[in-house]
Amino acid sequence: MKRIIGKQAVEKGGLSVAQYMQICLFDPEHGYYRTQHIFGTKGDFVTAPEISQMFGEIIGLWLAQCWIEQDQPKPFILLELGPGRGTLMADILRATAKVAGFHEAMQIVFVEASQQLRSLQKKAVPNVKVSWIDDISQLPEQPVFFVANEFFDALPVHQFQRQNNKWFERQIISQEEELCIVNCRHASDLVQLQKRLADTSDGDIVEINFLARKMAEALGRHIEAFAGSGLIIDYGDWVSLGDTLQAVQDQKPVDIFAAPGQSDLTAHVDFAALVKDLACAHSRLVPQGLFLERLGITQRANMLAAYLTDDALQIHIAAHRRLTHSDEMGSLFKVISFYPTSAPTPTGFDYAP
Ligand code: SAH
Repeated sequence: MKRIIGKQAVEKGGLSVAQYMQICLFDPEHGYYRTQHIFGTKGDFVTAPEISQMFGEIIGLWLAQCWIEQDQPKPFILLELGPGRGTLMADILRATAKVAGFHEAMQIVFVEASQQLRSLQKKAVPNVKVSWIDDISQLPEQPVFFVANEFFDALPVHQFQRQNNKWFERQIISQEEELCIVNCRHASDLVQLQKRLADTSDGDIVEINFLARKMAEALGRHIEAFAGSGLIIDYGDWVSLGDTLQAVQDQKPVDIFAAPGQSDLTAHVDFAALVKDLACAHSRLVPQGLFLERLGITQRANMLAAYLTDDALQIHIAAHRRLTHSDEMGSLFKVISFYPTSAPTPTGFDYAP
């Protein structure tokens, strides 16, 4: 894979960081999401739905609550972006099974680029009809209630470095058979970058995720036009600064060039950029731990604990801590919601953190 990327870098005179991410994650033959058994406790990284069923149950009830508050539209789209192994949707469906009318009115749609993951997702939700789309623009004109957990961090970012008040895109090149990262020779004239001169210093790196912005904008337009609401959960901050690109293999950080196609590559989500030109309303950004607490995860954890003993109980207690505690995923991960400007602020976001 390294050789293939090196060859492309030579042919194209360098690859942007975004192109590098795209190839590493989605190359048809060697891409990470096409070849690896990546998720779950035996995989390279463990996501919140894989830690505990409580995560998906809470998200499911949040989505159903929004659907009820918007007068239970029928039919509606239940959309998940980047569903991975499908665990989150399976938990959402179990948690909402008793919400009157919800399953009858829903149509499940997944946005998923990997064929391998599409077949895992089908197996995770065997008794319901699911369709897959590549792009938000393919959504039917219906209300959409969506969730995107650790999806936006997988979208390819461009990186730029400030030098003498100009911005230079960072590029991956091949030097003596090794990949390395350098600045482009020509300065970039992107308008967005000019504004970043105000909050950066010489040498700083900023990241722009054009695809993430485009997808968030499309979701916002859809929700404003056809109703619905959604949650974006990811690690990142309101505004991120610096090089946040990271590679993970076997649940440990590795160099981004160490094992292209065999390690996961992600970058922090810049939430302010996602909502900059949003057509619908958005909530404030709330830490994952606080959001889950507000939605009752501790009560749910206590209920489940009553059925558990010994090791199973210890694993359950650790999972609750892992999802909510500020030393674990509780503060690093953030949650934001999208909803129509005419709808009330969704539950969990109605007061300041
Ligand atoms: N939400 C899951 C998995 C997150 S991993 C969980 O919480 O466990 C990222 C997911 O997004 C994978 O399913 C990956 O294939 C998908 N993905 C990444 N980039 C994508 C893109 N550009 N288009 C569609 N799906 C994408």
